[in-house]
Amino acid sequence: MPELPEVETVRRGLAPVMEGARIVEAEQRRPNLRFDFPEDFSARLEGRRIEALGRRAKYLLADLSSGDVLVMHLGMSGSFRVVEGPDTLAPGDFAHARSKNPRHDHVVLHLETADGAPAHIIYNDPRRFGFMTLVPRAGLEAHPLFAHLGLEPLGNALDGAWLASAFAGRKTPLKAALLDQKLIAGLGNIYVCEALWRAKLSPMRAAGTLVTRSGKPSVAAVRLADAIREVLAEAVAAGGSTLRDHARTDGSLGYFQHSFAVYDREDEPCRHPGCRGTIARTVQSGRSTFHCRTCQR
Ligand code: ZN
Repeated sequence: MPELPEVETVRRGLAPVMEGARIVEAEQRRPNLRFDFPEDFSARLEGRRIEALGRRAKYLLADLSSGDVLVMHLGMSGSFRVVEGPDTLAPGDFAHARSKNPRHDHVVLHLETADGAPAHIIYNDPRRFGFMTLVPRAGLEAHPLFAHLGLEPLGNALDGAWLASAFAGRKTPLKAALLDQKLIAGLGNIYVCEALWRAKLSPMRAAGTLVTRSGKPSVAAVRLADAIREVLAEAVAAGGSTLRDHARTDGSLGYFQHSFAVYDREDEPCRHPGCRGTIARTVQSGRSTFHCRTCQR
């Protein structure tokens, strides 16, 4: 499943082609993905200009000249390909190889780019857990998909003080609190494991322990906020460098996997200098947690 940095990488790969482009034709090849497409989906896209391509949590948001927003979610296996002339570029890198089987090409946007050139955005999704819908911009924040989303973790708003205010009094395990989409939007299992390891904090400790008695952030809270922003920023940077690599090649996409420090490294030695611990895997709320019992307290 693509995580937040990968969705941001996809956005950065699509934006140069999509922003300012006009949708000449929108081919919808099935009635539904995870959900039904809206009625008149193609008609509401065709002829519109894409004014900006943004992101909220793991949703890509294409603002259209009509005032609608095309909301796109990649689900488990969704991906985009960009076809411009002879080149094919698939933005974003996923831990799972992505399908190029045209049988799973469900939506094709035929564009005239801001430069007047033809381009095609192809959405492929073998498992069809992704979806697309149209929401009026004016009602976006109140829409059920977005109304309860918490803070954007890639922004500067995530700091120790914010964590302290969000976690004050909470007895839930730190890992569960970090995965709560109503608090922080889009931070997934992999990056929570990585950030907790980097901050040397146990996923099991109560979230409220990051707050001092006077309600201020503890040193650990500041360390954790820094760690979250760092692991995400590094992943986005890694994704960006692979985008450039792909743009240079003939467009055939290599298989790329981020190297994680702790995620999926059960029984391997902890990589913190001086730590002799071993990475353990436990299951919390049905999800695997990878952590070092020796240095994560
Ligand atoms: Zn360790």
